[in-house]
Amino acid sequence: MSANEERIAQFRKMATECPDDELANYRLGSLLMEEKQHDEAITYFRKTLELSPFFSKVYQLLAQSQIALDQKAAAIETLKSGFAVADERGDNMPRDEMSRLLVQLGQEAPAKRGQAAAPVGGEGGFHCQRPTCMLGSRARPLPAPPFKDELGRKIQENICADCWGIWLRDSSIKVINELRLDLSREDHQTQYDRYMLEFLGLEEPTTVGSSLPLA
Ligand SMILES: [Zn+2]
Repeated sequence: MSANEERIAQFRKMATECPDDELANYRLGSLLMEEKQHDEAITYFRKTLELSPFFSKVYQLLAQSQIALDQKAAAIETLKSGFAVADERGDNMPRDEMSRLLVQLGQEAPAKRGQAAAPVGGEGGFHCQRPTCMLGSRARPLPAPPFKDELGRKIQENICADCWGIWLRDSSIKVINELRLDLSREDHQTQYDRYMLEFLGLEEPTTVGSSLPLA
């Protein structure tokens, strides 16, 4: 099994055991897409969007799989919806990429509205970067950094108190159980940190150098 196949098996298990875990569905879709298994990738991207309709990056990936399968009309529809979501949330990177793909498909570049509209940020213009955050203008920043280091500062600047709470109360425990992590081991701690960053949307998922030990 290649490293990617191992990770696919791992996330397939996770998505089966926790079908409502948007991140597991998203990661599985992304890995399948990398392996050019676009049909199945589309299934998991759609599932992710059912769970998290504001996860703008997923529209982009879904459209890219649809383009790979020559489903041009479906891709255009996906990109138009995704552009609107990304624009409203202020997710500039996926928004601009989806605009570029629409132009490649012979469409006009859609107009940006997000910037012209009233500020979408909450208190003091705070904008939560977690891709699945649904709070928009109700997002509240954390009162203090959760860790006394650079990462703690980054989390406080970018992640709202509610999303941090979801990670701490719910998802972190699930990750430890699902991936059978032993946090006294340095390699497991690294895996845990990486999963946390992906959960929070502070790091792009990567499969390069993945060495998660499978139980
Ligand atoms: Zn949030």
